[in-house]
Amino acid sequence: MLRDEERERDPFYLMIDKFRIKQKLLSIWKHEKEWRRKTGFYAAPAHLELSFGLPVCKEDVETGRLDPASRPEPVTLVLGGKRKVRLQGKMDRIDRDEEGYYAIYDYKTGTVPTIEQIGQGRSLQLPLYLWVYQQGFGQDPALAIGSAYYVKGNGGNAAANQRNKGLWRKEETGRVGLNPRKSLDPDDWRKTEENIQRLIDQSLSKAEQGDFAVSPTWDCPRFCPARHICRVDAWILSKKRGTR
Ligand code: SF4
Repeated sequence: MLRDEERERDPFYLMIDKFRIKQKLLSIWKHEKEWRRKTGFYAAPAHLELSFGLPVCKEDVETGRLDPASRPEPVTLVLGGKRKVRLQGKMDRIDRDEEGYYAIYDYKTGTVPTIEQIGQGRSLQLPLYLWVYQQGFGQDPALAIGSAYYVKGNGGNAAANQRNKGLWRKEETGRVGLNPRKSLDPDDWRKTEENIQRLIDQSLSKAEQGDFAVSPTWDCPRFCPARHICRVDAWILSKKRGTR
């Protein structure tokens, strides 16, 4: 068996890795081309790997590992007009059209949360990215088209057109050539944002009171190293017995 570092240098494995990367890039490129042909979508990626609250080094910017507009300071979000949250992270991609309307994408390789799960505050990534871009990078909320997943395919599999999975404003989806069944009209959009912010506020209030009771949002990964200390098995058992 080769150790990881030996494997990284082994010409045979390097050749396989290069082949895989090439396949993946080709599949994404084909997907992009097809997407533009079908939708007439003229916006181009405006930011790739846009980071906030993380070190920004010149070399990373010059080599394209970080977007030049990245900022080392965290973004302070004001949620619900009162709760302040400081965040750091990196957004995969933001597309903009000529009028300044923008769509935020998060690349994924596997399954993605549904709009219902996002609305229930069970997956915060997309709404948080939207608010970070608006509050931390000075973008007008009225120009948001949406925030969604971009399933880029796994291994040699083709990228899948799943951009319709996410939060989209119904009146603007035509700008990205989408007609998702579950886009949000202005009222639903406002309610969804308010609901997610309320859920975040509740969770943070619980944490402030020292309430860290286990309550996983998803099925826990089998390999989670904290499984033996977080008491999730006792929690699952009590749910099965109906004692919770
Ligand atoms: S096993 Fe425990 S720590 Fe790990 S994901 Fe589940 S709840 Fe969280």
